[in-house]
Amino acid sequence: MNNECLFCGIANGDKSKLFWENEVAAAFKDIHPKTPVHILVVPKQHVLNLDELDNQELAGQLLMAVREVAQKAGIKGGWRLQVNNGRSAGQVVDHLHFHLLGGKELAE
Ligand code: AMP
Ligand code: ZN
Repeated sequence: MNNECLFCGIANGDKSKLFWENEVAAAFKDIHPKTPVHILVVPKQHVLNLDELDNQELAGQLLMAVREVAQKAGIKGGWRLQVNNGRSAGQVVDHLHFHLLGGKELAE
């Protein structure tokens, strides 16, 4: 846990602000939702982004977390997963996060 990091603080902070959690991951609603359901899924430990994710077990656990969160959010079967990896890809918060997007028609 990095004390300076916003998402470390949320993931390891007030549980009433979390949508879902387990031992290694937490999920919470995006403060500026882009779709009716917009949830961020993050590791509880500090990982900058996918370039820094070298723990295979954690990588698998995070994807399983995403599935569980999608199920809990009621969007099972139709959702999008987005990672902005690095500044030039639009990563603003320096703690790995998966954007889980859904709740409306996303296909174009
Ligand atoms: P990214 O551009 O991929 O780094 O996405 C960062 C996301 O974090 C944006 O969608 C923001 O709306 C969201 N965000 C920033 N601060 C908070 C916060 N305190 N709680 C929830 N979501 C946040
Ligand atoms: Zn962090």
